[in-house]
Amino acid sequence: MRVPLLDLKPQYLSLKNELDEAIIKVAESQYFILGPEVDSMEKVFCEYLNCKHALGVSSGTDALLIALMAIGIKPGDEVIVPTFSFFATAGVVSRLNATPVFVDINPVTFNIDPKEFEKNITAKTKAVIPVHLYGQSCEMDEIIKIAKENGLKVIEDGAQAIGVQYKDGRHVGTIGDIGCFSFFPSKNLGGYGDGGLVISNDDKLAERLRILRVHGGESKYYHKTIGGNFRLDAIQAAVLKVKLPYLDNWSKQRRENAETYNKLFMSSGLAEETGKTNFDKRNSVLLPKAIYKSNEIKNYHIYNQYIIRVEKRDELRQYLAKNEISTEIYYPVPFHMQECFANLGYKRGDFPLSEMSAETSIALPIYPELSKEQIEFVVRTIKDFIQKQF
Ligand SMILES: *Cc1c(COP(=O)(O)O)cnc(C)c1O
Repeated sequence: MRVPLLDLKPQYLSLKNELDEAIIKVAESQYFILGPEVDSMEKVFCEYLNCKHALGVSSGTDALLIALMAIGIKPGDEVIVPTFSFFATAGVVSRLNATPVFVDINPVTFNIDPKEFEKNITAKTKAVIPVHLYGQSCEMDEIIKIAKENGLKVIEDGAQAIGVQYKDGRHVGTIGDIGCFSFFPSKNLGGYGDGGLVISNDDKLAERLRILRVHGGESKYYHKTIGGNFRLDAIQAAVLKVKLPYLDNWSKQRRENAETYNKLFMSSGLAEETGKTNFDKRNSVLLPKAIYKSNEIKNYHIYNQYIIRVEKRDELRQYLAKNEISTEIYYPVPFHMQECFANLGYKRGDFPLSEMSAETSIALPIYPELSKEQIEFVVRTIKDFIQKQF
């Protein structure tokens, strides 16, 4: 049975008429960049996320970059980021000639450890970027408290977490100073090209973001500051507006798939109790854990990725591939071990929990339209592999 990591076709087919119509409408309007379609998309997202300002931008990476520019990050400033995330989280800091300061993660959630964040604050620190990795919120109360005590700005990287609610029901992205989202096609809410969103409840920051998005020009051709081309195009806005009303249901289906995996792993006798950090038995599978699980809050975890940890991860991955099951490694190399950051002076061993996660985690297919039979096949195949190994 073939099980792809992600198959976007069924989603497209289920909304084909609506999507085609929306795209054709943009073609007919001949209004391609920003404009009325982007304005109305921003309003819809403000309502959904319950925030004051939302601005469509060119990508999730640019959302992070423009956010750092808006809070005035300058050469020599330090910005604290988890060492375990997608490259953009750290790359944007370096692009402004500021210094990314890496810290370790909480191995249960894979998210930044607030205590490690606090320990690494110096006189040069200006901001922190908590990443809501794999679709689960960071420990925001703790992070906001530490940031406030130290006069730091909080830029939330919600690229994998649009629609995720924190334990009190607030949407991630609305808790810090600026929230950033990505609409890369493979994210939970994907456009038909690159796209992103920055949100804020702060009027002044929102105004700065608006100006920076169009080369820093308050009025056309007059520039007080230097911005960039961070504009979203109208086709992306139109597609995203069609898709947004379905997002919560897709998240629900992902959560149900995760629960199916969890149950099957537990009943297979292979799974360790969720959330443990060490392998007690070599023949075990560590399951992901939703720490804010609650009946009142719907989207406590939206499973952008379903990540298990196993020994002999690379061998398992090959075995699954031979059985037509696609998987991915998010992420094989933490920032502190990346060649491009060698000048920062970190070494292997500095962040053991991130290193362990990089070596043992594997993403299984979790997309909404996955069938129960496919999930059963994945678990059965993993069980076969483990029984052969140990
Ligand atoms: C995808 C992603 C980004 C970047 O988004 P793009 O739209 O691809 O530029 C940033 N941070 C994280 C955590 C991501 O997963």
